[in-house]
Amino acid sequence: TETDTVLEVNNIEVIYNHVILVLKGVSLSVPKGGITALLGGNGAGKTTTLKAVSNLLHSERGEVTKGNIRYNGERIQDLGPEEVVKRGVIQVMEGRHCFEHLTVEENLLTGAYTRGDGRGAVSADLEMVYDYFPRLKERRGSQAGYTSGGEQQMVAIGRALMSRPETILLDEPSMGLAPQLVEQIFGIVKRLNEEQGVTFLLAEQNTNVALRFAHKGYILENGRVVMDGPAKDLLENPDVKEFYLGVS
Ligand code: ATP
Repeated sequence: TETDTVLEVNNIEVIYNHVILVLKGVSLSVPKGGITALLGGNGAGKTTTLKAVSNLLHSERGEVTKGNIRYNGERIQDLGPEEVVKRGVIQVMEGRHCFEHLTVEENLLTGAYTRGDGRGAVSADLEMVYDYFPRLKERRGSQAGYTSGGEQQMVAIGRALMSRPETILLDEPSMGLAPQLVEQIFGIVKRLNEEQGVTFLLAEQNTNVALRFAHKGYILENGRVVMDGPAKDLLENPDVKEFYLGVS
C-alpha cells in the first residue's frame, strides 16, 4: 500500500567526537513513494539525520550510539556507505558538490558507477535525466564549475538519479537559489516522485515550500522531533505558522 514504511529511524542518538550529543532520540517513519520533509532551523540536526541514514557520519567523527535505522526492514546502520547506495538510498549533499572540472554530462555519468548493467541502460537513464532537466541537456558539454547554482543543484540531483535510486535523501535543495528556481526544483522533485515513484526525504529550512510539496513533515529542534504529521496539517498549524512560516 501507499503507506508502507520504507525507511524507519528508531530513536537514534548521534554523538560527534565522542562527546557532542547532537541527536537526542530521533524517530522517523518515511512512507514508500512519498515526499517527507525534515524541517527545522540552523543546527537542528537535519543534515546529521540524513548522514546517519546514508552512513556518512564516520568521516566527520560522528556515530550513531543508540537506536536503529531500518531500510525495507533491514538494519542498515552497520553497512558501509556504498552498501547503503546499493540498497537504493542515495544522498544529495547540501551545497551541491559537483566535480567542477568535469562537464555536466561527465558529472551525470559518475552517478552510474554503482551499477552493474550495460551502457544501453546508462544512456537511457541519461536521456531520462535530460527529460527532467532540459537545461542540463543544453549545458551537457559545459564545465560544471562554470554553471549557475541552480544548474549545479540540477546536476547533483541528476547525478543521484543515475544510480536508479529508490530513495533520495535531499539536503537543503533550496539553499542559495532564487524563489522561482526553488519552485522549479521542487516541481521536478514532485514529478520524479509521481512519475518514477522515487521516495524523497528532504531536509529544508524553507518550511513553506517544503510543506507545500511534501506529503508528510517532521520538525526538528535541538536534536529532537517536536512535531510531525501530514504536511497539510502542519501548514495549517498555528505554532508552525507562527514559528516557522513567519505569519501569525
Ligand atoms: P544546517 O541547516 O545548518 O545544516 P542542520 O539542521 O542540518 O543545520 P546539522 O548540520 O545536523 O544541523 O548540525 C546539528 C548540530 O551538530 C550543530 O550544532 C552542529 O554544530 C553540530 N555538528 C555538525 N557536524 C559536526 C561535526 N562534524 N562535529 C561536531 N559537531 C557537529
